[in-house]
Order: sequence, then C-alpha cells, then structure tokens
Amino acid sequence: MRHNGRDCLEWHGGKSGKSRGSQVKIFVMFDPPFDFFLAKNHQGRPLAYSLTRRASVKDIIESLGIPHTEVGSIRFDGRKVDLSFVPAAPGTLQVHAVQTPFNVLSPSMLRPAPLDCIRFIADVNVLKLGRLLILLGFNVACSSSFSDDEIADIAQAQSRIVLTRDTLLLKRKKIAFARRIRSNLPYEQVLEVVEFFGLRHLIVFFSRCTACNKQLVPVSKNDIIHLLEPRTRQYFFDFLQCPQCRKIFWKGSHYDAMKNTFSHLGIFSKKE
Ligand SMILES: [Zn+2]
Repeated sequence: MRHNGRDCLEWHGGKSGKSRGSQVKIFVMFDPPFDFFLAKNHQGRPLAYSLTRRASVKDIIESLGIPHTEVGSIRFDGRKVDLSFVPAAPGTLQVHAVQTPFNVLSPSMLRPAPLDCIRFIADVNVLKLGRLLILLGFNVACSSSFSDDEIADIAQAQSRIVLTRDTLLLKRKKIAFARRIRSNLPYEQVLEVVEFFGLRHLIVFFSRCTACNKQLVPVSKNDIIHLLEPRTRQYFFDFLQCPQCRKIFWKGSHYDAMKNTFSHLGIFSKKE
C-alpha cells in the first residue's frame, strides 16, 4: 500500500472478530524521535491503520508502542486534536514528539493543566538517577518499594514528573508528565533529564539530603561539633543538616569529586 507516494505498512487496530459496521482506515505518521519505540520496519514510513473498533488517538498511538507522555502534539488531516479524539473517517494522523526543552510549567493542548513546579518521582529502575537529581537540588520521590499503581497515584496526587525505563507504565492515564529514560548509565540519564526539561538554571548543587529528599538547612559548627571526626572538626567550618534524618553535610572531598564529575558531563552552566 502507498500513501502520498511512500510505501506504508498495514496495521489492524482493535481485536479481530469484534468489528462493528464499516472499517475506517487511517494513516499514522510519527516524528523521527519516536523511532526509539518503533520496530525497525515501522520507522520513517506511514502506517496504514484499520480501525476495527471505536478507538481514541491515545489508544491508537499506544497500540503502536508510543506512550502518550512522549507526544507533544497531534494533527488529524492538518487539524490539531487531543488524545481523546476518535477518528470517524479516513485521514492522516500526524504524531509529533514533545519539543525540547519541555516546559512542563506551560499549558498546551494535550496538557492544559501544567505543573506549578518541577518535582519528580523515580521508578525503581532509575533510582540512582533519582538520587543524583536530588544531589543537584531537585525534589525527587525515590523508593525501591513503589509499585506501578503507587507511582501513577503519587504522580497524579503530587503533580510529579515520572522518570522510568518502563514504557508500559507511561501508558497510564493518571501520568501526564514523564520521561521514558533512554540511557542505561545514571550520569548520562541525569544529562538526559536536565536537557529534556531544560533544568540547568534550576540546579542548586548539594542542597538536599539524598536519603530523605529534604532541603538541607545551615547548622552552626558549635551545635554539632561533638558529632564531628577530628579531621573534619579541624578543616571545615560550614555545615548543613537534614531536618529529617539529622545527617550532617560539608563540602569535603566527596563534594569536590561529585562536582567534578557533573562538570565534566557539562551539567553545570559555565559560570558555576
Ligand atoms: Zn535526610
């Protein structure tokens, strides 16, 4: 089959044997960034999609392997539509990826209720990424015990952006904002998130407890001096403390090493 002079693949939506009335055939075209989710023979070509049941654009897109959270805008025969749109006549569905940097604080047709601040929840498959983002000062809910249901519930109730390597999780309606993390490597994942959401200007390195996700508060050396090792007592003067676990932080060799690693990755702005 051909569409606008290009070869395309046939796809049958819905379950066979449940056809009611006449079939509607549409063409679906995905932007190149969606190649990550598509089988090799689906990439870079229109898909002929036969609707054998009433299906929303969200259903159609996700049946082809793309979670709705990755979609920035959709057009049907050139007209902008949202995820609930149900094609009732033949036409062409163009699916565009979220444009980067993704401004989650600004409303869009697909996400009319933007977030009021940047907050994340990290799935168990990207926990190290979550901890590194906390180190950069971001509010990240991290736990190895979150179930998929809990992640979706927390994301909705607390307006958090979901970070995960689980594509299936992101097909849930409760999750509006997310990033399906591409890289396997935690430091590369940090760069991926910082660039995707345009976060460089929001980094406040070493401002949160990586265990509790709480904002650290300055503490007087005199108040905690009895808790310090002799060397730390001798060479360091500025201290921060977690208001929850009471752990004490100072800018020692670990701080310098982490800061160098982030700097080499280009995470910080040049002035930092
Ligand atoms: Zn803590």
